Amino acid sequence: MIVQENIPLAPLTTLKVGGPARYFVEAKSIGEVQEAIQYAHSRDAALFVLGGGSNLVVSDAGWPGVVLKVAIAGIEQQSHDNKAVFDVGAGEEWDKFVASAVARNCAGVECLSGIPGSVGGTPVQNVGAYGQEVSETILSVTALDLNSDNVCELANAECEFHYRTSIFNTSERGRYIILRVKYELLPGGKPHLQYADLRNHFAGWNEAPTLADAREAVRTIRATKGMLIIAGEEDCRSAGSFFKNPVLAASDFERLTQRATDKNLQIPSYPALESQRKVSAAWLVEHSGFSKGFISGNVGISRKHTLAIINRGKGSAAEVVALKNHIQDRVEDIWGVRLEPEPVFVGV
Ligand SMILES: Cc1cc2nc3c(=O)[nH]c(=O)nc-3n(C[C@H](O)[C@H](O)[C@H](O)COP(=O)(O)OP(=O)(O)OC[C@H]3O[C@@H](n4cnc5c(N)ncnc54)[C@H](O)[C@@H]3O)c2cc1C
Repeated sequence: MIVQENIPLAPLTTLKVGGPARYFVEAKSIGEVQEAIQYAHSRDAALFVLGGGSNLVVSDAGWPGVVLKVAIAGIEQQSHDNKAVFDVGAGEEWDKFVASAVARNCAGVECLSGIPGSVGGTPVQNVGAYGQEVSETILSVTALDLNSDNVCELANAECEFHYRTSIFNTSERGRYIILRVKYELLPGGKPHLQYADLRNHFAGWNEAPTLADAREAVRTIRATKGMLIIAGEEDCRSAGSFFKNPVLAASDFERLTQRATDKNLQIPSYPALESQRKVSAAWLVEHSGFSKGFISGNVGISRKHTLAIINRGKGSAAEVVALKNHIQDRVEDIWGVRLEPEPVFVGV
């Protein structure tokens, strides 16, 4: 295990803000993960587990303890009962795994094409897009339990997946280091084309789209929204969607609808949102005076996506947090709903 010191974290994130890690370890095996933990204990240093850095806002002061980047590799496939089980190292790039599953004609993750980050990051917030969530295909998560120092295998139900949550970012936050994830996919399955964007993309096709067609379509649509990382492009220098779609109680939803009616506006509703009584965070942000391309010093809102706070080049974490607060306050003032951020704040 190699311990590096004062390693800048901004280049290891997609938002490209934040200071250095006091200590930095890249662990390629379970043994190295355990060594890094021992190292953190021996220095009495706080541990932060880093994946692909695509859902983070790292403070300008950086992280005073040990940053452990999980770099465990490997994609292993087993087949049984007409299902294909992929056992994937947490350090694998997520989209590389999706490409490999699609190339092997296995369905279940094709709509999650183009999402940045690592495989180990996907169970944490139950990554989802275009009608699919990883919770639908995760069979189990192999993790190091920091409470007992044992490696354990958590079954899907034990992860308690919901919209953008699991035990890993709620009740058991900080307890587990994810080492491997098993996904159960369907060989020869059809692509999941539920979302309007995807249906529109394929409207007029004479042949049924394949998994590879679906993957390509998702990546194309994501690129138009700045949701596909393209090196050097300002509109995707972000942490993805910065706010979750609020899930409201019936009474809160009624109050919100009334406020909209009073302003001669109508809250948009899509079947996918309605089923979980979710409200579009993008609509709330847009109707609070923030539009695509909004600029606030060195940061702003993507020209392609209202929910993406971007670093325009020389932005700092402080500026990102200030814009986040400004948006949250305005939305709350106008609509009575406090938006919840999606990214993880490190040392902020
Ligand atoms: C352009 C763009 C588009 C995006 N689109 C989507 C989208 O469509 N849907 C969606 O759900 N998300 C999306 N995201 C958010 C992000 O890509 C996902 O949340 C991703 O899964 C984060 O993984 P990561 O490896 O980058 O994790 P990081 O950002 O490195 O870490 C995120 C959290 O997970 C924890 N973590 C990471 N790895 C491990 C591990 N091995 N063990 C324990 N904890 C770990 C970290 O400690 C941290 O708390 C997008 C982000 C960007 C920048």
